Amino acid sequence: MANVHEPVCRLCRREGVKLFLKGDKCVGERCTFTKRNATPPGQHGLARRRRVSEYGVQLRAKQRARRIYGVLEAQFRIYFDAAAQSKGITGVLLLQTLERRLDNVVYRAGLASSRQEARQLVGHRHFKVNGRPVNIPSYQVRPGEVITVRERSHQLEPFQRAVAGSRSVPAWLAVMPESLRVDVVRQPERQEMDTTIDEQLIVEYYSR
Ligand code: SF4
Repeated sequence: MANVHEPVCRLCRREGVKLFLKGDKCVGERCTFTKRNATPPGQHGLARRRRVSEYGVQLRAKQRARRIYGVLEAQFRIYFDAAAQSKGITGVLLLQTLERRLDNVVYRAGLASSRQEARQLVGHRHFKVNGRPVNIPSYQVRPGEVITVRERSHQLEPFQRAVAGSRSVPAWLAVMPESLRVDVVRQPERQEMDTTIDEQLIVEYYSR
């Protein structure tokens, strides 16, 4: 998750959809998006709703995906270029790359309440991949790899929460909460990824 320099709830209001950037707050009644009835940010939020051009729609789709995963523009472009040069459906390959980031996997596995928290936990060296410490949030996990929480970190609050909790986890990950272990079973499939993202619009945006 890239550093965000404005209140993250504004990003949800700007994108017109809940991006789930603040962990538990996002699912409760305290969610700003819900409380403010999804109006765009700014003094004249409602008045600023207007017809959006084709380019604007594509731009918003790209920004929405970038903000959900907390990736800076330059990194996002690198991911897109790599997907475009690979064999397969570019939009799906792009989403798979975003999903396979270590910070996203930690979040998806229920070991953090948001991707931002996951990024911090990874950066603070609380995880091992195949037995070796990894502190790079953008690390790309592969099928067959095993992610574990370091022994000395087991008592930290987010991990105790994970042991006690029961977050639903996508089938491409196998989570053993009691041992704080995540197995990457296979590649994520499209229906297991964020359905609010329109990857075709992102492809069109970069193909202009
Ligand atoms: Fe978005 Fe609501 Fe979470 Fe704020 S609390 S980041 S508005 S989903």
